[in-house]
Amino acid sequence: MAGDDIPLLSKSRFTSGLQCLRKLHLSCFQPDLGTPPDAAQQAVFDAGALVGEIARDLRPGGVLIDEAYYLHDEAVQRTRGLLTDTSIPAFYEAAFTEEGIRVRADILARTPENSWELIEVKSTMSTKKQHIPDVAVQLMVIEKAGLTTERVSLAHLSRDYTYPGGEYQADQLLTIDDMTDDARAYVGTIADELAVMRRALSEDEPPDIAIGPHCRKPYDCEFFAHCRAREPEWTIEELPGLSAKKRTQLRDGGTLSILEIPDETQLNAAQERARQSVITGSPQRGDRLEAELNKIVTPAHFIDFETLGPALPVYPGTRPYEAVPFQWSDHVLHQNGSVTHSDFLADGSEDPRSAFVDSLVSQLTGAATIVVYSSYEETCLRGLQAVLPDHSAALETLLTGRWVDLLQIVRGHYYHRDFRGSFSLKSVLPALAPGVAYEDLEIRGGMVASNAYLESIRPETSARSRKKLRQDLLAYCAKDTKAMLLIIDAMRGERARPSGLTSKLSRALRALWPFGALKT
Ligand code: SF4
Repeated sequence: MAGDDIPLLSKSRFTSGLQCLRKLHLSCFQPDLGTPPDAAQQAVFDAGALVGEIARDLRPGGVLIDEAYYLHDEAVQRTRGLLTDTSIPAFYEAAFTEEGIRVRADILARTPENSWELIEVKSTMSTKKQHIPDVAVQLMVIEKAGLTTERVSLAHLSRDYTYPGGEYQADQLLTIDDMTDDARAYVGTIADELAVMRRALSEDEPPDIAIGPHCRKPYDCEFFAHCRAREPEWTIEELPGLSAKKRTQLRDGGTLSILEIPDETQLNAAQERARQSVITGSPQRGDRLEAELNKIVTPAHFIDFETLGPALPVYPGTRPYEAVPFQWSDHVLHQNGSVTHSDFLADGSEDPRSAFVDSLVSQLTGAATIVVYSSYEETCLRGLQAVLPDHSAALETLLTGRWVDLLQIVRGHYYHRDFRGSFSLKSVLPALAPGVAYEDLEIRGGMVASNAYLESIRPETSARSRKKLRQDLLAYCAKDTKAMLLIIDAMRGERARPSGLTSKLSRALRALWPFGALKT
């Protein structure tokens, strides 16, 4: 590719290039191969944009360069035209192009010395390592454009902030960290990094880089599905808990597929179960699986919570990203093998936590076992103890009962090759109960559920939409708790069942399950 054809970089392309040169190449030349953001990711982006708008009040009275991103040259012209107007104290989204790099600065504020302060805004709770190149590349471009930059800062959500209600106050919501030294130190490395990126971009084909942990850190890569398709069907990346050392050892030895792993390779128990499952095509059960499952004593309550955790708190007294539970589902396995279901979904604009706890405590009183999938529910209840002291004793009684984490049982004692290396409920359920996947639901993830709940309680939402949203929420949460029963049923399998209890459970599930055939 001729040098003139190398595309301009942007701040996001630069950070993509730091994460993976293949990602950079694909995002420049084949962006359509990326997976568009889903509703949950879009909600995160939207929340970030909202935080960015609020942050402008940190340096008020500025001018917004509101030309769209695809009108970058126009935005640069307008920025340049206004910079000399010393009556303007700040710019939001000021645009620059230097050294083949385009940037838009969240906030560029004039200092008393007629120099500039660059403020990058993030909706994180702290400054992170990956933010340094992000601000450094902006600093470099802005200074190449002739601006003297006195200070480089990063504004992020404050850990000390508690929402008092009403409008968000930027100076309370956000904390500003000085990153001047880090950014200046990093600028010195940018030229070399740009040279490497431009060399990669001068090639016709994207670099041949295998998938690995870098696909998720520091950011989820939108090309993962595309790159995963280049790997063997049973890629070693699906070995649970694969360490960097083991990955390197296997790849350096030319082993790309789980099927090719030499017998003498040292694998931990979960990895060996995964390997055997792929080789044989059959699920692998650990010796202690049944004993672990027998810790579930009836009446057993299989519970799941849905929570809100928005960057911008909704209820007075809550903090950014604080989990506020608004819904629970409980499938109860009784001693005679029958299964019943109860649920709670808050309503109205009030803080749902008290009603949530009252209903949950009442529901779980008398439970012999509380079964969860991950420690999230316990953590959530511990958090509620701190903020609802009147409920603390009742919650303590629940928390000191018999809890069984089904995720730990699956992770430690069972593997089905269709887990594909993941033990999340969304991976495990379709593997063990095909036809009972989440695709038939309108809501398929926690973030979408959280947004649906917020939508349902907005005064502007019509009664019809509200009813539909609530139906979708109830169906989603119920699926998570029913899934745990199905998973136990499938893990035991017909031959492994020690008593008539599980067969009764299967019949009860068939009678209750509205989503399709069960696999046993
Ligand atoms: S999925 Fe991984 S290997 Fe592929 S482009 Fe993204 S980061 Fe690179």
